[in-house]
Amino acid sequence: MSTNSRGQHTEYHNLTSQQVNRIPPSGIRKFFDLLASMEGVISLGVGEPDFTTPWHIREAAIYSLEKGYTMYTSNLGMPELRQELSRYLKDTYNLEYDPNGELLITVGVSEALDLAMRAILNPGDEVVMPDPCYVSYNACVTLAGGKPIMVPTNQENNFETDAADIESRITNKTKAILIGYPANPTGAVMSREKSSQIAEVARRHRLLVISDEIYAKLVYGVEHTCFATLPGMKESTILLGGFSKAYAMTGWRIGYAAATREIIAAMTKIHQYTIMSAPTMGQVAAIEALREGETNVAEMVEEYNRRRRTIVKGLNDIGLSCFEPRGAFYAFPSIKCTSMTSEEFAEKLLVEEKVAVVPGSAFGQCGEGYVRCCYATSLAEIEEALSRMKRFVDKHKIV
Ligand code: PLP
Repeated sequence: MSTNSRGQHTEYHNLTSQQVNRIPPSGIRKFFDLLASMEGVISLGVGEPDFTTPWHIREAAIYSLEKGYTMYTSNLGMPELRQELSRYLKDTYNLEYDPNGELLITVGVSEALDLAMRAILNPGDEVVMPDPCYVSYNACVTLAGGKPIMVPTNQENNFETDAADIESRITNKTKAILIGYPANPTGAVMSREKSSQIAEVARRHRLLVISDEIYAKLVYGVEHTCFATLPGMKESTILLGGFSKAYAMTGWRIGYAAATREIIAAMTKIHQYTIMSAPTMGQVAAIEALREGETNVAEMVEEYNRRRRTIVKGLNDIGLSCFEPRGAFYAFPSIKCTSMTSEEFAEKLLVEEKVAVVPGSAFGQCGEGYVRCCYATSLAEIEEALSRMKRFVDKHKIV
C-alpha cells in the first residue's frame, strides 16, 4: 500500500468523502483519549452531569421494559411524549406547538442539529454562528453542504453575540443564524435585550434562527430567554432542546425540535430514513422526566450553583481571570497570564498535575487563550483541581 508525505494511505484516503476529510476530528475527543490512559486524573473535561439519572426516571424505563415496550415508536416520537412536551413548552414559555406536526423527538440535540441543517441548507448557503461555540455547530453546517460564518465574541462582552456583528456578516447567501445560549463552552447567557436585537436582524433579513437551548434549565440567578418567545420569532425559529443535561440523561439519547409544520416535515423526512425513531426506552424515561422531574432538576441546579461559585472564585484567585458564567456548567478562564497556547496549557496541566481541561481553541479561534473547565463534578474534586492548578499557574505564569 502506498503512503503520501503525510503518512496517509492514499488508496484508502480517496475512498472517504472530501467533505468528511475536510472536517478535523473533535479537539475534545483527543483529550479524553489521553486522559483514559492515565490514572489519578481529576477531569474538568467531559461536558456531562456527574449525577446518575434520578431513580424514578430509571424505574419508569425499567418498568416499560418489563411490560415489553421494545418496538419502534412513531417516526415523530411517542404521542404521549409529544403531548407532554407540548404541555411543557406551553407552561414554561406560553408557546403553542401542535404535538402532531410541530414537534419531532430526536436522538439527542445532536441529531436535531444535524437534521435542522440538512433540512434547510442548499449547497453554499451560509450560517452565521458565534465563535467560540459548541464543537458540532461548525461540523453540522459543513456536512450539510453549508458554510459556517463565525462571529467573534469576547470576555469583555461576556461572550454574548452582538447583533451588529452578525448583521455585518450577512450576505445574499446567508440562510440562518445558529446560536446556543446558555453557551457551551463559555457558560454565557444571552440577555433578553441582546436576543431581541438578534431577532430584529433575523426579521430584517428574513433569516431562520436555530436556537440550541439544551442548557435552558441550567441558569443561576438570571432568566433564560427562549428565542421563539421573542416577538414574531416563533415562525422562523427552530427550537432545539433535550434531556441530556438538565435531567442527567446523556446516555438515553433524547432531544427534540420544535418548529413550523413545514420544517418539522422536512426534518422528519431525513429522520425517518436515517434513524426511524429515537430509542423507545429513552422516550419513556423522558415522559417521566417531564411529568415528575422538576424537583430533581432544582436540586441539581442548586448543587451546580454551589460548585460554580467555588470554581469561579478559585480560578480568579489563582490569577486565571474568569467572567461569571450564568448558565450551563462551564467556567471559561483566560490562561493568557501563562503565555501558553490553550492546547499547551491543557496538555501540560494534564501531564504535570493530572487535571483535565479542554483547550478553548477546540471551540473556535476566539477560544484561544482560554480553557473550558466543566464543574459538573464533586466540590471535593473541584477544590483539589483548583489547588493543583494553583501550583501549575504559580510555576508557569510570566511575571
Ligand atoms: N448542544 C450543546 C450546546 C451541547 O453542549 C451538547 C452536548 O454537549 C449537545 C448539544 C448535544 O447534546 P445531546 O446529548 O442532546 O445530543
